[in-house]
Amino acid sequence: MEKKLQELKTRLLEIDDLEMAASVLNWDQSTYMPPGGAASRARQMSTLARLSQEKFIDPEIGKLLDDLQPYGESLPYDSDDASLIRVTRRDYERATKIPPAFMAEFYQHGSLSYQAWAKARPENDFATMRPLLEKTLDFSRKLADFFPGYEHIADPLIDFADYGMKASSVRALFADLRQQLTPIVQTIVNQEPANDSCLRKHFPEAQQLQFCEEVARQIGYDFNRGRIDKTHHPFMTKFSLGDVRITTRVKENYLGECVYSVIHESGHAMYEQGIRMDLDGTPLAGGTGAGVHESQSRLWENVVGRSRDFTEFFYPRLQKTFPDQLGSVSVDEYYRAVNKVERSLIRTDADEVTYNLHVMLRFDFELMMLEGTLEIKDLPDAWHARFEQDFGLRAPDDRDGALQDVHWYAGAIGGAFQGYTLGNIMGALFYDQALKAHPEIPDQIRLGKFDTLRGWLTENVCQHGRKFTEPEIIERITGGSIRIEPYIEYLRGKYRQLYSLS
Ligand code: ZN
Repeated sequence: MEKKLQELKTRLLEIDDLEMAASVLNWDQSTYMPPGGAASRARQMSTLARLSQEKFIDPEIGKLLDDLQPYGESLPYDSDDASLIRVTRRDYERATKIPPAFMAEFYQHGSLSYQAWAKARPENDFATMRPLLEKTLDFSRKLADFFPGYEHIADPLIDFADYGMKASSVRALFADLRQQLTPIVQTIVNQEPANDSCLRKHFPEAQQLQFCEEVARQIGYDFNRGRIDKTHHPFMTKFSLGDVRITTRVKENYLGECVYSVIHESGHAMYEQGIRMDLDGTPLAGGTGAGVHESQSRLWENVVGRSRDFTEFFYPRLQKTFPDQLGSVSVDEYYRAVNKVERSLIRTDADEVTYNLHVMLRFDFELMMLEGTLEIKDLPDAWHARFEQDFGLRAPDDRDGALQDVHWYAGAIGGAFQGYTLGNIMGALFYDQALKAHPEIPDQIRLGKFDTLRGWLTENVCQHGRKFTEPEIIERITGGSIRIEPYIEYLRGKYRQLYSLS
C-alpha cells in the first residue's frame, strides 16, 4: 500500500507541476505579457492543460485509486492519506465522466463566445449573443447529464464550484435571506445616501499602491510567499504554497477600488498561504470551494476592512499618505463613504447589503434556464423586469442587464454565482464563531493587530485545504449546517449605526 500511495503521489505531483506552470503563464498573460505573445500563449496554455488532463485521466490512476480505496477507508476520515485518496477519487470521477472531446468543444465554444461578448457588451448587442448563449445552455445541460441521478439539473454544476451544496438547499437559504434582506435594503435606500465624494478626488497611483501594500502586510499577507502586481481584473493565483500572488487595479479618481480589492484578494491569498505546507503539490493544497474562498476574501474586505475598528486604525495612516485630499475629512465621513449603500446596476460595484440581491437574480435565472422555464430569447426582458422588482431601478440597456457579467459568456450556465453570497453568509458565520472564542478580536483590530483572527481562521478553515467539503467545514466549526442568522445580525448591527433601521 505504501508503494502504491507513493506512486499515486508521484503522479499527482507531476500533474500539479504542469498545472502550476500553466498558472504562471496565465498570471504573466494577465500582467506583463506584450500583446504579441497572445497567440502562442493560448497554444502553450492549452498544451499544458491537455498534458495534465491526459496524465490525470490515465487508467493507471484509476487502478491505483481502486487498490487504495480499502486502505483509505481503514484510516481516520480526516487523516491526510484518507483525504488525499477520497478527494482525488472525486476529482478523478469528475474528470473521467466528461469525454475529452466534449470538453474540447465546450472550451472552444467558450472562447468564441467570450470574444463575441467582449465586443457585443459595449455595443449593447444581445442579438449577436443569443445563439451563442443558447449553445452554452445546451452544453451546460449536457455537462450536467454526464452526472445522472441528480435531484436538480443544476446540482452537478453547483458541485463543481461548491461541492456538497444543492440547488434545493441554496434556493431555500436564499429565499430566507431575501426575506430578511429586502426590508433592510428598502429602509436604507429610502434615506439620504452617504456622501462619498472624499473617495472621488485625485489619488496618485504610486502612493495608493504603497499604502495598499502596507495594509496587506499588516493584516498578514506574507510577502515572502507573495507579491502584488497590476492587472485589469484583480485576481489571486498560486504557483505553490510558497508563492501565492495577488493582482490589483488602481483608479486614480476613486480610492475605494485599490484599497478594498487588495484586502479582498489578500483574503483569498491568506486562505491559500494558510494551508498546511506538507499538503503542497497534492490535490488537497487548495481552497475547498467558491463559497469558503469568498468567505475569506469577504470577511477581510467587508467584515474587517470596512469595520469601524479597522477604519480607526488605518484611516490616520491613509490621511498621512494623502494629506491634501483627506486632511480635512473626518474618520466618520470616510467610514460612511466606504459603507455607502445604494441601488446600483452593476453587481461588482454593489455594496455589501444590496450585493446579494444581484447574486440571487442570477442564481434564480440559472436554475430557470437549465429547467427550461426561461428561454434565452426572453432573458433580457426577464432581467429588466426582475431587476425593477428587486431594486426599483431599470437598466437603460442590456449592457448593464443580461450582458453584464462575463460568467455565462465564457463558461457554463449553472453554479457560477451562488458562491459569492454563500461566501458572505459563511464569512459572518465564521467571524461569529471566532468572536465567541476570542471576544478581544475587535479591540485588537482597532490596534492594528490581526494575529488572533488570522490564527483562528488558519486553525479552523485554511490549514485543511480541500480535506473537508464546505458543509463539513461548517459542521466542524459550528456543529450544525449553514445558517443566515449571524450574517443578518452582522448587517443589522453595523447598518443600524450608519442608517436608522426600524
Ligand atoms: Zn473573490
